[in-house]
Amino acid sequence: MATTQTSGGNGKQAAATPPPATAREQLASHDPATGEVVGTVPVFSAADVDAAVARARTAAAEWSALSYSEREAELARWRAALAESADELAELIHRENGKPRVEAMIEVYMALSHLNHAAGRAEKALRPHRVSPGLLANFRATISYHPLGVIGVIGPWNYPIFTPMGSIAYALAAGNTVVFKPSELTPLIGAKLGEIAARTIAIPNVLQVVTGAGPTGAALARAAVDKIAFTGSTATGRKVMMAAAERLTPVLMELGGKDPMIVTDDADLDKAAEAAVFGALTNAGQACISVERVYVHEAVYDKFVDKVVGEVRGLKVGGDDGHLGAMTSPQQVKIVEDHLRDAVAHGAKALTGGPDAISGSFIQPTVLVDVTPDMKVIREETFGPVLPIIKVGSTEEAVRASNETTFGLGSSVFAGKSARELADRVRAGMTSVNSVMSFAAITSLPFGGVGDSGFGRIHGDEGMKEFTRTKATAEETFALPINLMTFKLPKGTYERIRGMIKTLYGDSPVAKAQDFLRRLF
Ligand code: NAD
Repeated sequence: MATTQTSGGNGKQAAATPPPATAREQLASHDPATGEVVGTVPVFSAADVDAAVARARTAAAEWSALSYSEREAELARWRAALAESADELAELIHRENGKPRVEAMIEVYMALSHLNHAAGRAEKALRPHRVSPGLLANFRATISYHPLGVIGVIGPWNYPIFTPMGSIAYALAAGNTVVFKPSELTPLIGAKLGEIAARTIAIPNVLQVVTGAGPTGAALARAAVDKIAFTGSTATGRKVMMAAAERLTPVLMELGGKDPMIVTDDADLDKAAEAAVFGALTNAGQACISVERVYVHEAVYDKFVDKVVGEVRGLKVGGDDGHLGAMTSPQQVKIVEDHLRDAVAHGAKALTGGPDAISGSFIQPTVLVDVTPDMKVIREETFGPVLPIIKVGSTEEAVRASNETTFGLGSSVFAGKSARELADRVRAGMTSVNSVMSFAAITSLPFGGVGDSGFGRIHGDEGMKEFTRTKATAEETFALPINLMTFKLPKGTYERIRGMIKTLYGDSPVAKAQDFLRRLF
């Protein structure tokens, strides 16, 4: 049962489950476009978080004992209720995050596609399977997957339900219970997920939502959970890892990015320009997998820039029909402005927008040229509606520049025949070929990064297995006359084993035949 009390868009306290006794402080959620209070939620203290984890632990015993199909049926009820509430969910996302309503509705769709996939896929993804026992031919060797127990999920504000659902859906489908801490900027939508789960999933406390800011998240990272799935900035990710280290709690880190796009001289330029504009500016550029830098071959650079500028000039910021909404946080506006001023001060040119085209929480989309690698806009995550375009002399140079970053989350390549091979050379967890961000929409593909972008995977079978403990079972099926796992070894065992080592792994005809057969099959 979710224990978060929320107040709805009319600013009045909605009737919901009473808040925990110790959660007296309230957190207000604001509409970033207008500054209006959308609603309030209680701040969960460390004691409240521990109590939620204890309830989740009790629920885990019952939830994990269900069969896959029973869990799938429970999750299907939650999914259906969320789908029936799609308008309400999209409106809350729009109001708390600032993104246009249509983007909010797409986010609901994407979140539910993962819930649907995870619930239906769990049994197949986690089916125990046999592997070769090697020389222990009298053994049955099996790998099986078991729920970890209670998962702590800490989420960001930029995709307030799609992003956490990438962990929550897979963790629940794998048989765990979840305690979810949404961002303090989007707590109402987080709480709504919990409320709908509480009235649709028959077992109480399978998904609980604990609202609050950093300290509530820190309490969850220190709590007695079996894994923390964190999505947010690299700086906070480091803190979460340090807190989790106290209990040796394993962590999954989905962090920031500085995604490159490469456009070669044989790319479809219309397609590449449209994708670059969408990839950089969707959600006002506040996506971990935003296109943050574009490397374009000099032979097509001028044409590409013209096309991009043409597309960007057709976009509208703000209003009901705007393509870009309000930036979610004033803090993020300051970061974007700082990156733009730094770029311009060091010689970059804004072909649209620019540092002076910022008004409150609205930023005009900015196409930057003449940018250099030392500028903040190339080195750090900008997380705003900014599209820096860099001219390169060759594909080699584009790959080298793409990989010169501490991040490695998403990426995209627009190219002719070389596209697939090029994709493998980009150091990133994910690459879209002749498209942007598509890897995030394919539910069976694993999602995650390398370096400062984090580690571990959500989505797909890999994402499901993240929330399980892998168990290896070796089962003797019949006894062999030779047994090495005993102290009762016959005389001459030392010599026999030495002979075996040389025959199997040395410079012997048997070893060579083995190598040959391995290469064949
Ligand atoms: P953030 O790091 O500021 O906050 C993320 C969450 O951590 C929030 O819920 C916050 O309350 C909580 N938190 C803050 N301090 C904490 C602490 N000490 N211990 C535990 N939790 C704490 O990130 P944000 O600004 O909400 O989100 C934007 C960032 O998230 C960007 O860097 C973006 O790239 C990244 N992101 C990554 C992915 C991904 O999948 N890799 C997806 C979306 C966003």
